[in-house]
Amino acid sequence: MEEFQNESLAGTEITKIGDPKDDDISGMTPAQLEEAKAIGRRELIASLLGRALDLVYLVSMVVLIAQPDSGYMLWLKGFSDSSTVQLTLLTASIITGNLLVSFPLSLYAGHILQHQYHLSRQSFLQWIWRKAKGFFLEMIFSLVLVIILYWIIWMTQGWWWLVAAVGFFFLSVVLGQLAPVLILPIFYKIKLLDPTDQQGPELNRIFKQLTGGTGLSVEGVYRMDLSAETNKANAMLAGLGRTRRVILADTLLDHFSLDEIAVIFAHEVGHHVHHHIRKMILFGGVYSLTAFYLCDLVVRRWLEDTGVVANGLDYANLPIFVLPVLLLTIHLFSTLLEPLQNSLSRHFERQADRFAIDVTQHREAYLSAFSKLAKQNKDDPRPHRLEVLLFHSHPPIAERIAMARY
Ligand SMILES: [Zn+2]
Repeated sequence: MEEFQNESLAGTEITKIGDPKDDDISGMTPAQLEEAKAIGRRELIASLLGRALDLVYLVSMVVLIAQPDSGYMLWLKGFSDSSTVQLTLLTASIITGNLLVSFPLSLYAGHILQHQYHLSRQSFLQWIWRKAKGFFLEMIFSLVLVIILYWIIWMTQGWWWLVAAVGFFFLSVVLGQLAPVLILPIFYKIKLLDPTDQQGPELNRIFKQLTGGTGLSVEGVYRMDLSAETNKANAMLAGLGRTRRVILADTLLDHFSLDEIAVIFAHEVGHHVHHHIRKMILFGGVYSLTAFYLCDLVVRRWLEDTGVVANGLDYANLPIFVLPVLLLTIHLFSTLLEPLQNSLSRHFERQADRFAIDVTQHREAYLSAFSKLAKQNKDDPRPHRLEVLLFHSHPPIAERIAMARY
């Protein structure tokens, strides 16, 4: 599924720049740096394990289920004659199984580790509640998407991959519009920045000035209640068209100066000026077209190898048991393409950073804002180059600071 069109400012990344004595570039003390590195290492290990686990899980699903006479498929056929009912049950089982398998790691990385380093203020119950809402949403989305995908295959047959890619392209545009209005509020308390708030009038004036002449119309500036659950600060430009809004975390609004907030906001305006959201949606379109086409090739091959198809594939009766093969193909394709997507995203971040400094001329505020973000979020200012290359969507803080300095 496409990610929603919002982007978060506070990255968690880095490449080695300059010489080692630059290590205090983020303004962190040696103890703070050590702590940030320790968190970064643990998060990386958890994320690598999580990826390995996902892969093992999907491969097991293929081995155990993706055969016409697998035990589970026989049980499903006995349960109901309806293909859609069978598909619903199969999808729900795969999603639930994935939740169970990945739960211990996500408890560690999402809750235990965050508390160990005093980043989170969420109680265990709050965390579980958030997780349950996420699971519920994921279940609904997955069921709808898988059922629609199969219907497209059954109905449009050999051209299904093209129809599905066009469909997903429009879906990502619609989701981009709906996400900030319908989905974000399920997880976070968000309210319009109160004009009577002491920062309100001043911030609105700054935002008007920064958006002037850029063609960016923002539906509003919102305050997101993050402090109740985390010490981390964040900002984002979310939504598309009429729902486009700036969302600033209260942790940011309460601890950053007006100039620092202005520079962070200007970074978000930079994304708009450089058409980053539009480009990401286009990239997503090409991405899903390629992914679905690959799925078509793989599924055909799989059915030939399992002996189901002798003379050409009958799309109108594409069997349900190939679902794990489809999911594994999409998973492998996304994993392989992730570094490319991340490098594009880092390129966009650098453009937005440069725009922010040029337009505000608040170089000092930019430097202090990123140094604050690194400290508050306990981000390793210089993760390993390979880690950045593969997994980071934002440039490392040290690189962002160095860019502004020189
Ligand atoms: Zn950004």
